[in-house]
Amino acid sequence: MNLLPFFESAVVKLNINQTATLGKRSEYIGSSDVASCIRKAYLQRVYPKQPSVSTQLKYSRGHIAELLIDKIFKSGGVQHLYDTQVELTHPTLPMKAHVDFLFYADFEGNPELHAIEVKSVSGIPDAPYPQWEDQLSYQLGLLRMQYPEGKLGGSILAIDLNAGQIQQFNGYKHDAATFNYLYCKGLHLLDVLNGEDEARASLSHLCGYCQFRSDCPEMMRIPKVILPPEIEMLAGKYVELNTTKSHAEKEMKSIRQELLDFTGPKFSGRSDNYDLRVSSVAASMTVDGTLLNKDFPDIYSSVLKERAGYSKLEIKPIRNPDSTKSGTVGG
Ligand code: SF4
Repeated sequence: MNLLPFFESAVVKLNINQTATLGKRSEYIGSSDVASCIRKAYLQRVYPKQPSVSTQLKYSRGHIAELLIDKIFKSGGVQHLYDTQVELTHPTLPMKAHVDFLFYADFEGNPELHAIEVKSVSGIPDAPYPQWEDQLSYQLGLLRMQYPEGKLGGSILAIDLNAGQIQQFNGYKHDAATFNYLYCKGLHLLDVLNGEDEARASLSHLCGYCQFRSDCPEMMRIPKVILPPEIEMLAGKYVELNTTKSHAEKEMKSIRQELLDFTGPKFSGRSDNYDLRVSSVAASMTVDGTLLNKDFPDIYSSVLKERAGYSKLEIKPIRNPDSTKSGTVGG
């Protein structure tokens, strides 16, 4: 019984079913569109590409994370406080957002709207990515349109199912200027889709993964150089080692968890091959720099000290042009 060919078609159907509640993505501007590069969002619509089984499994991981969080909320007895996949619609334009979890009150029952954007990740970042924050800001803006009065906030819940870790990035508020910026990006995408404008490209850390990178005007601005062969070789070696390092770090993280599951928080023992010790570092207090800057800006500026600069090295392999796409758009 060969399961893999069956999986390849069944996973596609699973994702179609899972996203059915979001409606036809091609018919409206969603939060992921305005949070991304408009050139990429436009080209993805014009040259849609079936994601690989691996990518589709990752999408499913996101749905599983949402189901798990839903079950956690329900187990905690707060199911009466929220709805899932709440659709927000602009009153006149085809702009929509879907809030993963929308709470109508806090845990004490005080009325408050709180939007939660769930992100399933492999390794929780130290800070939320700007694209995540933009998605949430767009949702908060549409929420404010729908509910002009009352307390309104949001958070990003990043969950790493492999490592069993969850992190809430909290404290987001509706910001009219940020929403207006994202709204204008949405209008720009609508104009581009109607053939009234050319899609603008905007560089970000995601460009390295973009399938439309090869003929992107922003990429073309990067000067072409001929590197000495030994430097070209070192660059390749650096990329290879960096990839190995990332894989090793991910694997170490999950092995570490398995070891700690075995030892518990305190352990000291010696096998034939290893001296294994686990001790606890007590919780400690730290200064919340963002809060300090917000509430006591004078104090914040008086305690700042210079951090030494350093050379930042970034190397990304150049991918070949995507065979499924032809044509270009300006930027
Ligand atoms: S490579 Fe170009 S099109 Fe792709 S995300 Fe970056 S700026 Fe946008």
